[in-house]
Amino acid sequence: MTTTFEADAPITASDEELRDALEAAHIPSLMNALVHMTGDISHIRGEINPIAELFQDPQGGISPERQAEARAIAFEVLKAYRDGGNQLPPRPSDEAIEEMTDYIIGEGVPREYKDFLHAELGMDGEDAYAHASFEEISEVARASFHVVIIGAGMSGLLAAIRLEQERIPYTIIEKNSEVGGTWWQNQYPGCRVDNQNHIYSYSFEPYDWPQWFSNQQVLFEYFDRVSDKYDIRKNIRFNTNLERAVFNEESGTWSVTVQPANGEAETIEANAMISAVGQLNRPRMPEIRGRDTFEGPSFHSGEWQHDVDLTGKRIGVIGTGASAFQFVPEIAKEADEVVIFQRTPPWMAPAPTYRQEIPDGKHWLTKHVPFYYQWYRFSLFWSTSEGMLQAVSVDPEWREPGSVSAANQKMREMLTDYIGGLLEDAPEVLEHAIPDYPPGGKRMVVDDGNWLRALKRDNVQIVVDPIAEITPTGITTESGRAEAFDVVIFATGFQASAFLMPMEIVGRGGVELHDHWAGTARAYMGVAIPDYPNLFLLYGPNTNIVVNGSTIFFAECEMRYVMGCIRLSLQRDAAALDVRTEVHDAYNQKIDRGNELMAWGTPGVQSWYKNAAGHVTQNWPFTLLEFWTQTQEPNPEDYEFLEARVPEPIA
Ligand SMILES: Cc1cc2nc3c(=O)[nH]c(=O)nc-3n(C[C@H](O)[C@H](O)[C@H](O)COP(=O)(O)OP(=O)(O)OC[C@H]3O[C@@H](n4cnc5c(N)ncnc54)[C@H](O)[C@@H]3O)c2cc1C
Repeated sequence: MTTTFEADAPITASDEELRDALEAAHIPSLMNALVHMTGDISHIRGEINPIAELFQDPQGGISPERQAEARAIAFEVLKAYRDGGNQLPPRPSDEAIEEMTDYIIGEGVPREYKDFLHAELGMDGEDAYAHASFEEISEVARASFHVVIIGAGMSGLLAAIRLEQERIPYTIIEKNSEVGGTWWQNQYPGCRVDNQNHIYSYSFEPYDWPQWFSNQQVLFEYFDRVSDKYDIRKNIRFNTNLERAVFNEESGTWSVTVQPANGEAETIEANAMISAVGQLNRPRMPEIRGRDTFEGPSFHSGEWQHDVDLTGKRIGVIGTGASAFQFVPEIAKEADEVVIFQRTPPWMAPAPTYRQEIPDGKHWLTKHVPFYYQWYRFSLFWSTSEGMLQAVSVDPEWREPGSVSAANQKMREMLTDYIGGLLEDAPEVLEHAIPDYPPGGKRMVVDDGNWLRALKRDNVQIVVDPIAEITPTGITTESGRAEAFDVVIFATGFQASAFLMPMEIVGRGGVELHDHWAGTARAYMGVAIPDYPNLFLLYGPNTNIVVNGSTIFFAECEMRYVMGCIRLSLQRDAAALDVRTEVHDAYNQKIDRGNELMAWGTPGVQSWYKNAAGHVTQNWPFTLLEFWTQTQEPNPEDYEFLEARVPEPIA
């Protein structure tokens, strides 16, 4: 059972308990913690030194003998700390912190990363993604500004927390009956996060995660607790759909039409609107002939029907994306037979801890060893952020099919060996298990061997013939193979490119947003759209990632920027601000060029990142540092400031 996180609890453990806990230590993080506890920098100047990048080896290549040495030293330090009454020496100097940063992530970290990484580290408990102060804005001005937030998932809750902190009134409109968005809706068996949880969490809300990659229930519980802690629920209108919003050019406000599930539609006025509707919550059903003719139960993985008993059933699964990857091994345990219809196999990033519980010792260390949690999160943040980007960047001179550069080819070989190793005894499965697209062409699924073990089961089959038709009794393929099923499950992803659908958003000049976009969603910083003043998007166009970072990182950067926009608007007493078209267009040209040079942007790769016109509307193609830097604060010159027009008196 997960507990609330209480970092830096005093150490009262026995010697034996200390020794046990240290067995689970991440040595580079532990060594830095020792510097905090003793004030002695020489702990990281000796032989216990990371020599490998953390994304290659979590312990930084420190040999088992050196790890044992580190544990022995740490034992003495923890004992002295406990026996001395849990007293910390003064905080290490800035120079020492810099040395510790180099120690944990390796020397040669570019200078420009230092500020970014130090902010993320939040060494003194500061808010890593805090926005500029609202102090100079009067309480009256703040209180008369009303924001409508659409959605109470991870992004909408974050928006509410930031507004709540500045005492700006807001209302969240949520179509579901609960908070959590993705983590409430996706209740299929095996659903879990693919980013390690110590970075898939708000920077300001650490948590004692029970699993390295927690499952849906744990994630829902996290967002549920956060909404209670910040008292957000009082402002959420559950079971209410936001259908339409119209910008009023006279008043510079939005008129928002909401439809409660059981009640009359009503209109709310808002000075700003924050869309936090996500990219992955409207199931995408494939265009297959006869799709609705199947007579047995059939459903999408994002709308799992728990009342359909799968025990002893013959089940057809359409798709092999991230969701199928997680639920097939689970349902195969109880089904009579599972037949998977595969278009392309996934690349898998090996992670032995993927479905493991975090050991007790690790829980103890994060709670009791001062600064261990911060350094551990920091090491993960670095190793999973920019580390992989280079390997998925396109070398325009590279001609080898199936990869986009020498580094990408190396990655391909490494991952192919991994899959081959797991399927040595199953050549018939291996035949269809190696993707032909480059690694990084699509988001990799995280793997501990569970998927391939499931494919090797006697009751699981992979069919690679394209589907021709769904019939009342099953599925027929183009080669004429007919399979009969009791249940059909669609694991076909979400309508990710259909940003902000099916809402109608009417901006300046009376133009509806989707007409304005004409099939290709775009936004400045992923946040602002010309002619849609004070409409701010979270998890908007080109803010998704394939290999670097987590969506929460992006949301925290975006929300800091949005708070800057609201502050600017209030400071200047403007009704609203509207991004300039030329600024928006130049930004998006840069994004397009960037995406063309990434594995997922290459012409041969088909994925949900591309819209119907083959345009990458989802992904951020650059470093996290660049996103962090550009979203520090809005540049007033990028915006037109609108005044509220007082209506002419009627003669
Ligand atoms: C199975 C799965 C696994 C994932 N794993 C990862 C991962 O490992 N790492 C990662 O970074 N990301 C992951 N993601 C992406 C995930 O969606 C984001 O991490 C994050 O949860 C997005 O939060 P959000 O609040 O922006 O959107 P959502 O969680 O989608 O929430 C949007 C909310 O808006 C509401 N809403 C939408 N339209 C309306 C409307 N018109 N009116 C009222 N309410 C509305 C929805 O009901 C929903 O509650 C995963 C997604 C899925 C589906």
